[in-house]
Amino acid sequence: MGFDSSIAFDESRIHAAAVYCSDGRWGEQMDDFLHRELGLPRYDRLVVPGGPAALAGDMAFWREAELLDKHLRFLIDVHALERVVLIAHQDCAFYTRTLGVSASELEARQNKDLAAAARRVRGLGPVDVSTYRASREGGVVRVEQVRKTQTPDRKPPTQVCENPPKTPTQVENPDPG
Ligand SMILES: [Zn+2]
Repeated sequence: MGFDSSIAFDESRIHAAAVYCSDGRWGEQMDDFLHRELGLPRYDRLVVPGGPAALAGDMAFWREAELLDKHLRFLIDVHALERVVLIAHQDCAFYTRTLGVSASELEARQNKDLAAAARRVRGLGPVDVSTYRASREGGVVRVEQVRKTQTPDRKPPTQVCENPPKTPTQVENPDPG
C-alpha cells in the first residue's frame, strides 16, 4: 500500500531557491508564479513564517536569521544555487501579529525588509537575488517585483564632458561630401 504520485521524479536541479511564508493559502500561487512566470520548476523551498522577514536584521530574530543563513549556505554550496527569490505577502501574520506592524505600514515595511534581506543573502554567496511581494484583490493573487526604492544605487555623477556631444545631424552625416 502507499501513495504513488502521478508526478514523475526529475533528477536535474535548477539551482534556484525561493524563500517565502508558511501561510498555505498563498502556497499554490507561489508555485504558479515561480513555475510559470519565473520559469523555475523544482525550485528549492525555504518556507518559514514571514518568509524572508527574519533576514531583515531585526535583532529579535537573530536566531532565526542565523538558521536561515545556515540553510541558505547549505543550498548554495550543495545544490549550487545561482538564484534566490524572496517573496513577502499581503496580510502576513508574522508582521501583523508577531511584529505588531499595522496594516497601513505593512507594505512599506515589507519592501524595506526585502531590500535588507536581499543584501544579507547576497553576502552569503555568489547568487542573484530578486524580491517580490504577493497581494490579492478578491480571489486573484498578483505577484510583483519589488525594486530598490529605499536605497537606490547612487553612482557618482559622471563628469561633465568638456566637448558637448555632436548634434544628431553631425553624427548621421559625418561625410556629407
Ligand atoms: Zn505570512
